[in-house]
Amino acid sequence: MATLHSITCKEALNRVSGKGPYQYDLNAYRGCEHRCVYCFARYSQNYLLPKGEGSFFEDVFIKENIVERLERRLRSRSWKGEIINLGGVTDSYQPIEATRKLMPDILRLLIRYKNPITLSTKSVLPLRDLDLFAELSRLTFVGLDASVTTTDPNLARILEPGAPSPAARLAMLGEFVRHTNASVGVHSMPVIPYITDSDPQLTQLMLATREIGAHYWLPGTLNLRGTATRSAFFRCVGQHFPHAKQPLSVLYADGSLDRDYKVQLYKRIQALSLLHGVSTDYRCQLRQWQEKNRYDQLSLY
Ligand code: SF4
Repeated sequence: MATLHSITCKEALNRVSGKGPYQYDLNAYRGCEHRCVYCFARYSQNYLLPKGEGSFFEDVFIKENIVERLERRLRSRSWKGEIINLGGVTDSYQPIEATRKLMPDILRLLIRYKNPITLSTKSVLPLRDLDLFAELSRLTFVGLDASVTTTDPNLARILEPGAPSPAARLAMLGEFVRHTNASVGVHSMPVIPYITDSDPQLTQLMLATREIGAHYWLPGTLNLRGTATRSAFFRCVGQHFPHAKQPLSVLYADGSLDRDYKVQLYKRIQALSLLHGVSTDYRCQLRQWQEKNRYDQLSLY
């Protein structure tokens, strides 16, 4: 059980750049009890902890005034209704959310302002708020994704010891497919060389995506640039996957993934996704929503 800390924030939203479809993110918490061995957000709250003390997994900070700060932003004249990503450096539905319940109030606000969102989680707790997601998805764009890096529950217990089983995460997505208008996807990030990257493993993820009726499957590669992430990850590899330690250290010799491996991986992914009829186009539903919005705007004139 993590140590909990109450904090306040000046702003609810952070401007972000990058390839994602959103321009802002909101992190109701700092720290995360899902304890994924490859988590690259570990460094992100060093400034909140005394030097050398505490950790991203053991100290969870709760932004007590997040709802009030979000409302102030959403009602300001300068706010143009951009897409907000709920999470980014933490999981909005990590275990503490079960009792602190910040997300329902955040979702009610987003419903009131009809504000589009994206959210990716390793939890099944979004099911508690299914009605709120369903309501928001009838008003605007909602992208709801679960991160599932393997369908093997034993492997998942090693890689993501604090998260529910992959089967439970997939079942949750199935409920969102059936009961909301959300764009629903499976994020397999990261695909870990020599551990979760074989053709049968990737195929299992694609078949699971297809079976629940999700709109897309989005893989991503492992990022080992932070020193803390790299050393924790290799400790886990040494303990549980000794066969992969040496080849992984070659692939990540300079901190980023070897280019040739990456090219080959994406070639395999493309071939397998074509073979199994699984889309990797995570923007498809978003484009449809944007086109519909444009059409609605034009019809007003
Ligand atoms: S769920 Fe995300 S933020 Fe939480 S430990 Fe895992 S990778 Fe890190």
